[in-house]
Amino acid sequence: MLAAAHLLRLARRAGATVLPHEPVTGFLRDGERVTGVRTARRAIPAGSVLNAAGTWAGQLAELAGVRLPVAPRRGFILVTEPLPAIIRHKVYLADYVADVASGSAALQSSPVVEGTRSGTVLIGATRERVGFDAAMSLPALRRLAAGAVQLFPVLRDVAVIRAYRGFRPYCPDHLPVIGPDPRAPGLHHACGHEGAGIGLSLGTARLVAQVLVGDRPDLDTYPFRPERFAPREPNDQHRRI
Ligand SMILES: Cc1cc2nc3c(=O)[nH]c(=O)nc-3n(C[C@H](O)[C@H](O)[C@H](O)COP(=O)(O)OP(=O)(O)OC[C@H]3O[C@@H](n4cnc5c(N)ncnc54)[C@H](O)[C@@H]3O)c2cc1C
Repeated sequence: MLAAAHLLRLARRAGATVLPHEPVTGFLRDGERVTGVRTARRAIPAGSVLNAAGTWAGQLAELAGVRLPVAPRRGFILVTEPLPAIIRHKVYLADYVADVASGSAALQSSPVVEGTRSGTVLIGATRERVGFDAAMSLPALRRLAAGAVQLFPVLRDVAVIRAYRGFRPYCPDHLPVIGPDPRAPGLHHACGHEGAGIGLSLGTARLVAQVLVGDRPDLDTYPFRPERFAPREPNDQHRRI
């Protein structure tokens, strides 16, 4: 949160205008070309438009008439009461890697346990594809708690003070979507980073900026191209809201 607020401050300082609570509802077009966005209040012309709408990026792409199969992958986190510093590093079970790489929609859980500076311990991580179902799930929370106790038996008698959930932006091939969209010239995407979007945000921003100003990107962006997906697959989930 602090990092996001800081980045926003830097963007404003660099001349960006932020329009909160004003979702994009459509695109301005000049033939095929995307020439800006439309909101409920105004039309905003732009030389280039970047779709960075996270888990909702597929819906935004659809407004531009292109398909991006970004689906919500729900995840829960438990937060314990503050403890003395007993967990000093982020500790994972190796199963976590297999869960991330899995294409299954069913509930998966492998422990990721991390102490924070304030003493609370964060316990993740579940993954499941249930659309944008925001309901708390006791089976998911139980699996998280059991996994954490398996790694750190000392947590058995510790109180959980809260739980929260979010929707990771999941692409079927587990790669993000970064770059210009040849199906809608003028439209670029930076989305679909699943459970790594915070860590990858600065690198992604750098690639996007390099492409936008016509520099050679530091990294070959071909694997991330937006048009790599089949025209439509039966389990597209971004439509289920
Ligand atoms: C439980 C959980 C744990 C996670 N742990 C980690 C972790 O440890 N490390 C890590 O790197 N990542 C982690 N992630 C993943 C990370 O949160 C995401 O990858 C990241 O937030 C995606 O960033 P984003 O900027 O692409 O999308 P978002 O942060 O979702 O931002 C998209 C924005 O677009 C806005 N938007 C949507 N539709 C419109 C519209 N029509 N018009 C205008 N704006 C719109 C939304 O309101 C939102 O503000 C975790 C996610 C979950 C759920």
